[in-house]
Amino acid sequence: MSEMVSAFSESSSDSSTDVAGSPAAVPAVLARVRETYDSGRTRPLAWRRQQLEGLVRLFHEREQELADALAADLGKNPLESYVTELSLVRAEAEHALKHLEKWARSRRVPVPLGLQPASARTEPRPLGVVLIIGPWNYPVQLVLAPLVGALAAGNAAVLKPSELAPATSAVLADLLPRYVDPEAVAVVEGGQEASTALLKERFDSIFFTGGERVGRIVLQAAAEHLTPVTLELGGKSPAVVLDGNWAAVARRLVFGKLLNAGQTCVAPDYVLVTEAAAPALKKQLVKAVAEQFGKDPSRSKDLGRIVNEQHWERLVGLLDSGTVLAGGRSDRGSLYLEPTILTDVAPDSPVMQEEIFGPILPIIEVRDLAEAMKFINSRPVPLAAYLYSNSAADRKTFEEGVRAGSINHNASTVQLAVPGLPFGGAGASGTGAYHGKFSFDTFSQLRPVFTKGTLLDTLRFAYPPYTGLKKRLLRRLL
Ligand code: NAD
Repeated sequence: MSEMVSAFSESSSDSSTDVAGSPAAVPAVLARVRETYDSGRTRPLAWRRQQLEGLVRLFHEREQELADALAADLGKNPLESYVTELSLVRAEAEHALKHLEKWARSRRVPVPLGLQPASARTEPRPLGVVLIIGPWNYPVQLVLAPLVGALAAGNAAVLKPSELAPATSAVLADLLPRYVDPEAVAVVEGGQEASTALLKERFDSIFFTGGERVGRIVLQAAAEHLTPVTLELGGKSPAVVLDGNWAAVARRLVFGKLLNAGQTCVAPDYVLVTEAAAPALKKQLVKAVAEQFGKDPSRSKDLGRIVNEQHWERLVGLLDSGTVLAGGRSDRGSLYLEPTILTDVAPDSPVMQEEIFGPILPIIEVRDLAEAMKFINSRPVPLAAYLYSNSAADRKTFEEGVRAGSINHNASTVQLAVPGLPFGGAGASGTGAYHGKFSFDTFSQLRPVFTKGTLLDTLRFAYPPYTGLKKRLLRRLL
């Protein structure tokens, strides 16, 4: 690995500063990475293992630097960074290392009698050079977790972290080349101009995590080169509350909502609660916020801050959408917004129009599960849907009747820690999925290979002219 580091330092010491954020340097970066891919270097399992081990080592050796960058960008508590970003990606890399050989194996497929003697198999092949564009809210996890899949599958990759998490973007650009093959993985820093320059180029796959607006731009750019795309988007993920242990339900909702100050793509966006359950739930929600962040959450070291002033202003503007049951205070200077529970929220109010992406939880009362499901299904397909109920029958009804990227019962947000579950949206919340083996599959082509010998031309009976005998034989065989 040290050879790779020095190779990178020598080959790019002059240009690396140009590369960061410089759209003009994009073609040269891509040419270098493509040359590496075309050389075949990324295909052997040994190379892939080396990259995954490098990523695991990165998390062991550089946890502090990564956590510091996340704290600088988002005020994240180091433990929260560890739980929701660093340990999660390390676990993905370790899981991939453990299963790589099995995932990459080719598999025999039975050949029908009429085509025998012959053999058929499928084999996962890398796609080529992939582009990974990340958002700011989990700026380590959402760039490196896809990278685990891309490298495990034998691809080369260009990463574009979000410019709105600049400290994390810089630390990734600095550290990654020291831990993975710098000729096969490049980091391009910058904002819209860098992304636009990258999207002009031909990639073999684009993996985009972000909002719907930019998702459309990515899809249009990909169409130009017919590049396959994975879109990990957001949306308003509903939580329906019917019954349960109110204190536990409230704690789980508050935890899932307030991780990263509500700036989580699968956070419960709003709550639909039955009129009967509303009083108990509201009381417990207020209690749970105080339990987790204290009476004055601005003093808590465990509550993150809003990413920038523009988002802070947007969120403060949403506070008028209902009655503030708890919270509501804010401070522009520190980009603080107190966890806020809103009641008396009209379905057409501003807070119910777009993904909130902040620590505001609107509560809307509904008659029953049927009304809640109708409400959800009348809106764009969310990334996750949460049901809190102890009734197996209600859970089944919810699973059958609601369309969402995932269905989760009596839990919010923690489903992401299960590597065996695919993570992705449906409809407006995205296309494609990853995590665990699904990441490997997302960055692979399952290529069929069919082989016959020429010694015996057993297929002659299928060639024209189609005589009566051939017809009878073929109809019998097929
Ligand atoms: P965003 O769409 O604004 O930006 C994402 C990336 O696109 C950034 O790297 C940005 O530099 C780049 N970009 C910005 N403008 C561009 C343009 N015109 N052309 C090309 N690229 C451009 O998203 P964000 O604000 O960083 O993240 C928040 C959104 O991401 C929310 O909607 C959230 O739900 C979603 N999200 C989804 C997931 C998921 O896994 N499904 C995870 C996290 C966030």
